[in-house]
Formats: sequence, C-alpha cells, structure tokens
Amino acid sequence: MQFGYSETCLAHDPGARHPESPDRLRAIREGLKRKHGVQYVEADPVDVDVIDGVHDRDYLESVREFCADGGGNWDPDTTAVEETWDAVRYSAGQACWAAETALDGDDGRETPFSIGRPPGHHAVSDDAMGFCFVNNVAVAAQHALETRDVDRVAIVDWDVHHGNGTQDIFYDRGDVFFASIHEQGLYPGTGAVEETGEGSGEGATMNLPMPAGTDDRDYLEAVEGPIATALEAYDPDLLLISAGFDAHRHDPISRIRLSTEAYALLTDRLRGIADRTDAALGFVLEGGYGLDVLADTVALVHETFDGREPIEPDGDRSPDAVELLEEVAAAHDLELDLD
Ligand SMILES: [Zn+2]
Repeated sequence: MQFGYSETCLAHDPGARHPESPDRLRAIREGLKRKHGVQYVEADPVDVDVIDGVHDRDYLESVREFCADGGGNWDPDTTAVEETWDAVRYSAGQACWAAETALDGDDGRETPFSIGRPPGHHAVSDDAMGFCFVNNVAVAAQHALETRDVDRVAIVDWDVHHGNGTQDIFYDRGDVFFASIHEQGLYPGTGAVEETGEGSGEGATMNLPMPAGTDDRDYLEAVEGPIATALEAYDPDLLLISAGFDAHRHDPISRIRLSTEAYALLTDRLRGIADRTDAALGFVLEGGYGLDVLADTVALVHETFDGREPIEPDGDRSPDAVELLEEVAAAHDLELDLD
C-alpha cells in the first residue's frame, strides 16, 4: 500500500497519559518496517478553504487561535498543543490525498491509506470532541465531491466508536452514504439502528451497534450482509474506510472481541464491495490505542493488498447479532439472506 504520512502529525502531543499519542504512528511504522511493498507519501496540508467544506469557519478560527495560544484541554478528552493546528491540516491533507490517489486509479498494491492524526470521525461541523478536531474523512469526501467527477461517496467506519461527527455532517445529504459498525453503548452513545438519515439523506446513514463481546464472525456478517447490500444498491464512485483498530480484543478501551485476522477479512470484504461497485477505495486512520495491536493490524491490512489470503473464521453467529442485523435490514428495507 501507499501510506500518507507526515512527521508533522507526531508533534500533536496530548500528553504522556493520553491514549491518542504520537507513539501510535510510530508503532504502525514499526509494524510495516519489514513488510514488502510499503511506500510512504507526504501529501501537502490542506488549508481552511478546503476544511470549511464541512466545518464552520468560525469554529476553525477558534481552533487555530486555541493552538496559537498554546492549546490546552478543549474538553476533558480532547487536548491540543501549539503544534496541533499544523497536525490537523496535515492529517486532513493525507486523507484528501488518499481520496485523490484512489480516484486517480491507484488500487491493488498501490491502494492508499492515510495515517494522519489527530483522528477525525467524532469532530462535528462546529466542535471538537473525542480526540478529534477536524473530520478528516469528511473533508476528503467533500473535497472529492467538489473537485472530481464524483457523484456519490460511501464511508464505512469500522472504528469501535460510533462515527458521530461524520454522520452528523452528512445526515441530511444523499451524496454521502455513511455506515458505522461500532460497540453499542460506548462513547459517544449515538449510532442507534433508527438513525438512518433525514431529508434527502433518508436511508443514507446506516448504524450497526454490535453488542459487547461480538467477535469476528458477526462483525464480518454485518459487512457482508447489510453494508454490502446497501452499498451495492447505492453504487458509490468512491469508498472511504474510516479505519480504527480499537475493536480488537486487546484494545484497552472496548469490549468488542475482534482478532487480528478480522482486519484482513474486513479489508478483503470491503475491497470486494469496491470492486463490485467499481468504486475507488482509500483508507483513513481513526482510533486504535493498543500499540502492538496497531502495528499488527495495519500491517495485515497492507499484506491483504500485497497478496495475502485472509483466513476464514469458524464458529456460528450469535442470536443477538442475527437479531441486530435483521433490525438493520428492516430499517433499510433490505432483503438479507441470513441462513
Ligand atoms: Zn475509536
């Protein structure tokens, strides 16, 4: 894969006890060190004129000033330092690069993966939250819609937390389909099945709140079932993955029980959806707080594009998960074959 990476993103340092640390990117790079075919690209930062496609101008100015004044705690979770503003612009820039590179036709072993930070999917149009200041994947989606021959973008968010910011930004729009698979009841508490969009966005938001304890088999079923069925009908030109790695069983802050191999399987299935819909495919880093987990899982996403075949899971679906998938199918009028 090609990884969009900038040293500038390391300078955003929320402090020694904060889980969203610069060591996350160092761990990812360490995990990729001896892998075949890894390329790094440093894309340009984006300026406010691009970010304001999805964020209020006044909000962006207040973040810039907050950082220029030395930063501090924006809220109890979300911390900035002086360097954060530059990191934010680079992080969004790498995400835009991922979308553009995918749309330029880079796929297979050249598939782009933006590894910027701070992450983005909790940031709403006029506020930072959950370690996120600017919604990188939303900026990239909007930028692609405005500057390229793109009518429909799909975003699939497999971070263990609900991508509330991305949902909020596109909730009443039909040109971005947003699907989030996350742990039910975890921060920030949104992402219920009934949240399906409104106005011209009705039906273009899909939430799959999985019960704590869910493992590979059921997560995969969510992607192969409701997400694949909906995306094949939606027929996106661009598919962006909000790729967090905190649903792993060894991640310190969640109770979803994915294995490392699950990330190869999710990658494989989403690549299949992109192929079938003829959509360009790019990845954008969100959360993931176990450093060893990040190193192993991102490397496995890479290896999946480098020709490694994923190992299929065994075991049965849990009744709770089947019930949830049926609820999602009903909320979206989808015919699913769940036998
Ligand atoms: Zn997360």
